[in-house]
Amino acid sequence: MFQSILSNLAIILLGHLLMSTLITYRERFSKHLLYIYTVVLFSTVSITMLYLPISFGDYRLDLSLIPLIFLALFRGWKITVPVLFIVSAWHFFMGSDETLSSIVFVLILPTIFTLLLYERKIPTNINLKILFIITACWIISDLPIILFIPNGMEIFKNTFLLRYISFLSVASIYCAFILIGYKNDRLKQRLEFLASHDPLTNLLNRNKFIEIVEVKMKESDTNHYIALLDIDHFKQLNDTHGHLTGDSVLKEISSIFNKYESDNLKVARYGGEEFIIYLKTVYDKQAVRTLEHIQNEIRTTPFHSNNGGSLHVTVSIGLAKFESGSRLYDVIHQADNHLYSAKNENRDQLVVSFD
Ligand code: GH3
Ligand code: MG
Ligand code: MG
Repeated sequence: MFQSILSNLAIILLGHLLMSTLITYRERFSKHLLYIYTVVLFSTVSITMLYLPISFGDYRLDLSLIPLIFLALFRGWKITVPVLFIVSAWHFFMGSDETLSSIVFVLILPTIFTLLLYERKIPTNINLKILFIITACWIISDLPIILFIPNGMEIFKNTFLLRYISFLSVASIYCAFILIGYKNDRLKQRLEFLASHDPLTNLLNRNKFIEIVEVKMKESDTNHYIALLDIDHFKQLNDTHGHLTGDSVLKEISSIFNKYESDNLKVARYGGEEFIIYLKTVYDKQAVRTLEHIQNEIRTTPFHSNNGGSLHVTVSIGLAKFESGSRLYDVIHQADNHLYSAKNENRDQLVVSFD
């Protein structure tokens, strides 16, 4: 019995290890390929467990339902239904003494029951719910013993504790690994976000921006632009309304940028009250027009002051275009010169280097 439990654990944890590796390198696979790998992996693990049943006298308990329970609970219908179909078909055609009714009770009903309790986002206090689901699924999967076997209630009474403990122990260990993996994945995503974004505005930071733009510049042969945008008289705003108001103006301006962000427009906090914008457009006019829209939206937005009132700010912008052979830092330097000109021309201006 212990040997069977350990074999089941080995298979399920090996499957988990492969799945974690797949998730770690998920950017390297297309969405469809990742989907297919996941379906194949879960089906293989579940089918393999069919051949490692735990024996209780004349009766056996196969744990092939356990991977399906967690797939249903954490990944939902889209991925669980094909796996359920493959595993059920295998049980039906290849299993030794399977009947349709036992497949319905052992696989289909518990999986559908779990799907109804699917968690889109794993909450922190999910342990009790998991215990409930594991227990309920085990009871449903053991119902055929009571319903279809002569003297079934007697057999159930004699073996239920050992059957439940076997089922629960494998499911709990597997679940612990899933939850640890999920926690680590969330932590990794958080770290990646913090390393690539500005903590005050949540915009990209300068390093990540440069990394992204360097990739984009190689992508297509349309026009690429860099704009530097600086808030006018920001020191005065801080002095008059306080630094907290200054901070909230920076955040509100960043939310305006977020509305314009797309594949063709990326914004980062360049430092202090200065922002850098990458644009990709076919015509110069489009780039200028987009920046004028942003500049105008900032000009006409009433920003919140910490003392309850509202205030208005303007921004100066310098825009430069990539010419063939120009390097990113040269274009940034050029945009900076134009920004300097905008400041000298009474601020609230957009200065460009082309007609
Ligand atoms: P100009 O129109 O010439 O750009 O004048 P300015 O006052 O905006 O420029 P200056 O470089 O003299 O001052 C920039 C100010 O931005 C000084 C600094 O205190 C403020 N600042 C930089 N980072 C932050 C921040 O994160 N929060 C707040 N509240 N202020 C910041
Ligand atoms: Mg300024
Ligand atoms: Mg400045």
